[in-house]
Amino acid sequence: MNKYSKRIELFMGDITEQKVDAVVNAANTSLLGGGGVDGAIHDAAGPALLDECRTIGGCPVGAARITKGYQLPAKHVIHTVGPVWRGGEHGEPELLRNAYKSSLELAKKHGIKTLAFPNISTGIYRFPKHRAARLAIETVKSFLDRNSLPKKVIFVCYDEENYYIYKEYIESNL
Ligand code: ADP
Repeated sequence: MNKYSKRIELFMGDITEQKVDAVVNAANTSLLGGGGVDGAIHDAAGPALLDECRTIGGCPVGAARITKGYQLPAKHVIHTVGPVWRGGEHGEPELLRNAYKSSLELAKKHGIKTLAFPNISTGIYRFPKHRAARLAIETVKSFLDRNSLPKKVIFVCYDEENYYIYKEYIESNL
């Protein structure tokens, strides 16, 4: 164990139930809602979240935007857009890394201490799960190494497959 293990946690379940300063949403570029985790976050937050998202005017792939959390237990939602997997030769790894980095930068800027991530791009966007997990963990580790905020990052896995991929990777690398 090293110093990261206290700042990175793994959780299996629904991100909308996380009582954290911010949950990250795997949104699409419109920020106007979608399926998967995006739909779950909008359902749980209530219609005021969509009203605020409408004022933002979208978000490019790899970037992030912040809103309030409304009826969620989380105070804020950081909306980021991961890449759609199109075989891996279209900059997908770099774009996914950017989605994590932009979310972390925005969290830091807003003084967020606890931040929960879903497994961005591994659902409808089909990014291979092992590669996505490794990239997510490495990006978060390297950010935490250089920054004191966020204090804690929680990877929330909704599907068992992702949970065990993350568990194995975290246990062998942290
Ligand atoms: P993307 O379009 O970025 O692939 P998805 O929402 O389809 O986004 O999937 C991203 C990940 O979010 C998937 O691993 C999926 O299992 C997970 N997921 C779906 N619903 C929830 C939820 N309520 N809480 C946490 N993770 C969720």
